[in-house]
Parts: sequence; structure tokens; C-alpha cells
Amino acid sequence: MKRWLIWLAMLALWSAPLCRPAHADEAALEPVALSIAALPAGVDPAAEAVAGGRLDASFRPVERDALRFATGAARWYRLRLQTDWGQPSAPLLVIHNARFQPVTLYAPDDYRARVQHHAQSGRDARFSRRALVFELPRDLTAAQSVYLRLPGATRNVPFTAQVYPEAPYHVADIGWVRVMLLFEAVQFTMLLVGLTLWLALREKLYGYFVGYLLPQFLYLLVSTGDLYLLPGSQWLEPLGIRLLWFVAALSTPFALSFIIEFCELRRIAPRFARLLAWLRLPWMVLTVTALLPMRLHTGNSLQPDVGNVLYLLCALAAVSAVLVAWRRGGVAAGVFLLAWMPQSIFTALRATQVLLQLPLPGWLEFGLPAALSLSSLVLTLGLGLATLQTRRERDRARDEAQRDPLTGLLNRRALMARIAEALTEARQTRQTLSLLFLDLDHFKAVNDRHGHLVGDACLRILAERVHAELRPGDTLARWGGEEFVVLLPAAALGEAAAIGERIRQRVQAHPFRVGSEDVTVTVSLGIAGHTRASMDSPEQLIEQADAALYRAKAEGRNRLVVHPAFAAV
Ligand code: GH3
Ligand code: MG
Ligand code: MG
Repeated sequence: MKRWLIWLAMLALWSAPLCRPAHADEAALEPVALSIAALPAGVDPAAEAVAGGRLDASFRPVERDALRFATGAARWYRLRLQTDWGQPSAPLLVIHNARFQPVTLYAPDDYRARVQHHAQSGRDARFSRRALVFELPRDLTAAQSVYLRLPGATRNVPFTAQVYPEAPYHVADIGWVRVMLLFEAVQFTMLLVGLTLWLALREKLYGYFVGYLLPQFLYLLVSTGDLYLLPGSQWLEPLGIRLLWFVAALSTPFALSFIIEFCELRRIAPRFARLLAWLRLPWMVLTVTALLPMRLHTGNSLQPDVGNVLYLLCALAAVSAVLVAWRRGGVAAGVFLLAWMPQSIFTALRATQVLLQLPLPGWLEFGLPAALSLSSLVLTLGLGLATLQTRRERDRARDEAQRDPLTGLLNRRALMARIAEALTEARQTRQTLSLLFLDLDHFKAVNDRHGHLVGDACLRILAERVHAELRPGDTLARWGGEEFVVLLPAAALGEAAAIGERIRQRVQAHPFRVGSEDVTVTVSLGIAGHTRASMDSPEQLIEQADAALYRAKAEGRNRLVVHPAFAAV
């Protein structure tokens, strides 16, 4: 099957659970109409006074989509149903995008304070942590008030407060959990794959990959709140949103390191590699300051602003670096772009949304985790490709180490190994193995007359000529200089002599054509062989063939001589 078909199938598999996304379920989820009013920002009377209704005259109506945390000051909201509840399913007050802020509810009948926040341990297990969910009484009437107290926030962020019947809210909530769990599972699996490959292969690129994925996975766990379901997570509760800042700050330097390594920036774009390496430094500071309960003089923590601006800068630098590496032919950089584009677009949009204090739309809420999981999937594939590349390079290097660069024939070392294998096989199959030692006659004179380059060309032509006379299983190797060896497995003396004689005649009959010059050369050959009776080693065979060649030279060259030990059998 074509490889790209498998890739497409993989993408389809990944996206299948998205086909019925949570927001499709949500379309059926209609919030009931509410009348919302607020006390002026900063007016923070005693809770009993507000909950007792004594300040009702001071509440002013506000639009449903104008709900915001107040900067640096608490804010009170009052919610009333527009009609009496009267449904069998309980009313749920659902607060989205309260981030990590603790929200306090005062509701009938007892109007006692009920606090919820994202990182809270021991929260109502019926609902996911996508929102804060307060159950209201079933007999709630339009005349009754529900009060919300929001603490002063570091930022003027918007939030939403809606009332839904419990049953359809559950359906939508489960839909959300299903999609988020899928993305978490993909991230988690890729993390395990990276980790196991790292342990097995000890390839440092996999280590960087794990370093890249782990903070992103943690970020997902913190933002979905699934981290707070793990045992022992209650000690993370006091960190609140600072934990999110911490993992976000941690993920960027790891991502930069991974990009440098994965896209081979040090080799392909060294200046960018240095820039990205430097850009990691401010994040070291930000990871530390993220954990400190630091408030600057304005009462605002600068962490998210500094972090988001710096993130956008880093994203810009990284995209440029990867683009440059890709245009310079970096294959890994291309894969990375593919994996990273959706993710970086969504992260940049999310950073912009937080920076501009805009509400969080549904497509952005799902888009980022979806892009993260897709990216980890594509990157795992990229790591596979990188491993394949390394294997190809290793194979090529191994092949090159066995070959003679001028003729491309096997070299002496590879030949000796081949002879040893052939000898073993000859002993097992009880067949004769022959060896030709071949040397050009007066080749020094050829070099002297025509020059060394023409001599080189003659060596290549000779290799081709000899090769053309051989059988499929035969091996031709360059012994060194103008000497060649032919290994003829399963060839008895008669057959080997015939091949040798054919080579000799062909060389003699057709001068070598190099450019416009015709070079007339002849060859001398020595033959030796391994027979059933003999106990030869590769060195012995070579020695005997060389001795036969020496005799061919002594007897006048351009001839073929069989070693007496081989001729005797
Ligand atoms: P003989 O008939 O006795 O073999 O004479 P010869 O000149 O061929 O032998 P000799 O061993 O005296 O010289 C071998 C020459 O082969 C010397 C060198 O110039 C040439 N030679 C060896 N390797 C190469 C090569 O890679 N390229 C070229 N052009 N010449 C080479
Ligand atoms: Mg020679
Ligand atoms: Mg020689």
C-alpha cells in the first residue's frame, strides 16, 4: 500500500471521534433566561447583608455577556430566573471561564456561602471541571435571588453565568469530556512512545521529544482539571493559576530545544539555532516567578502578559527559523512545520484572546488541544522518519567502507570476507571454487605515455570489461593499484580458465577508448582454486593465484597461468 494512504488513514482515525463534537450536543443545550444585576465594582459589603437582600436596591441591571471580574476589587452579581423553575431536572448554575478564581454562591434556601474554584479538591464528581457548577433548588422561583461574589482578579477577564436543566447539561458535559479525553490520551500515548523509544534507543532526540511533550501534556491536564483528580494533587491546589503559568513557561524552552535538535538548526541555520537557544533564557526566570505569589505595585501580576508577549516573540522566531531550515532543504523542518502550524496558530490565538481579555469561544477551547494532539502524532511520525534517515546513512557509510572509490568495486577487506564465506559454502556443497588474479601489463608505461587520468579511466574500463564476462554469482574486486581479483564460486578449473581466457582476449582485441585516445593494453592472469581435497584459507588462495600471475609475467605477459596445485587435481 502507498505510504501516504496509510498516513491519510491515520489522520482519519485521529479525527473520527471529532465527527460528533461536544458542541453538537451543546446546540441542544439552551440556557434559561435570567435577569442579571451587579453592585458597582469595588462595593464589597458584608455577605450577610447582601444575601439577606438588604442591598437589593443598589444592584443595577447588566447584560448577560458583559459579566467580568473586576480588577483588584471584589464584585457582586445577582441572578434571578425570569420565570419560576418548575422542571423535574434540577437547575444548575454554570460558570464558565472563571479560570482559577474562587467564586462564592449564596442561594436559597439557606443562603450559606458555597465556594468553588478550578483547582479545588473534592469537588462534586458529577460534573467535569470545564466549568464551576452549582446545583440550585428545584423550587426556585423568579422572585428569589441568587448572589455571586467574585474576588478581585488580577485581570479584567470576562466570564459567563448560565442556568441549565441538569439532564441536558450532563449530555453536553460528557461530550466535552469524551473529546478532551481523546486528546489527552493521544498526548499521553505519544509521550509513552517517546519515552520507551528513548529508553530503548538512547537517541537524545527522543529525550528532547519527551521534554517537548511532557509540559504540553501537563498544560492540558491542568486546564481540563484532570490533574486535580489524581491522588495527592491537593497540595497543588494552593498554587492555583500559578501552576498553569508554570507549565506554560516550562513548555516553551523545551519546545525551543526540541526545535533546534529536531530541525537540525545547528547544521542548517546556525544563527537561528543560537537565537532560539538565547530565547530559552528568559523562560528560566518565568518558570521561577510563575510559582512565586508575586504581586507588583499595580496589584496586577505581569506574569501572563510578559509570558504571552514573550511567547508570541518566540513563536515568531521559531517559525522563521523552521521556515529557513525548510527552504534550505531540511526535511525534518518540513515535517515540523506541518505538525506545528495548527498548534502555533491556536496557541497564538489563545494568547491574543487572554491578552485582549476576550471571551473564550468554543472552537478555540477545542482547537488548541486538538492541534496539540495532532502535532504530537505528526512529530512521532517525523521521529520515525529521522530514525529511517539515520539508518540509511549508516547503511551508505557501511557500503562505502567496503568499496573502492575509483571503480566502485569491492575493496580488499570486503573481498577477503567474501572469499571466506565462499570457502565455507564450497566446503558445505563440496564444490570447486576458483580465483583469478589479474594484473595489467606495463601499466606504468600507459601512465607515462597518456597521463594518470587516462590511466584511471583505463582501470574503470577494465572493471566494466571484466564484469561483462562474469556470471551472476561471481565477485570482482580491486585488490589495489592495477590488480584485480575475480572470485568464481562453483567454477571448476575448466570453466575458470575459459572465463579468464575470454577476459584476456577481449582486452587484447579491443583497445580502451578514453576521450579521443585509443589505449592498447593487455592483462596477465593467475588462477588458483579450492578443491574438495585441499584445506585452503583465503590468504592461501590469494597467494597461489598471485604466484601463478608472477609466472605469467615471467613467461612474457598477456597470458594465463594455472597454479600447479590447482592444475594437479
Ligand atoms: P607489469 O607488467 O610488470 O605489471 O608492469 P606494470 O608497470 O604494470 O607494474 P608496476 O607494478 O611496475 O607498476 C604499476 C603501476 O600502476 C604503477 C602506477 O603508476 C600504476 N597505478 C597503480 N594504481 C594506479 C591508479 O590508481 N591509477 C593509475 N592511473 N595508475 C595506477
Ligand atoms: Mg602491472
Ligand atoms: Mg602490479
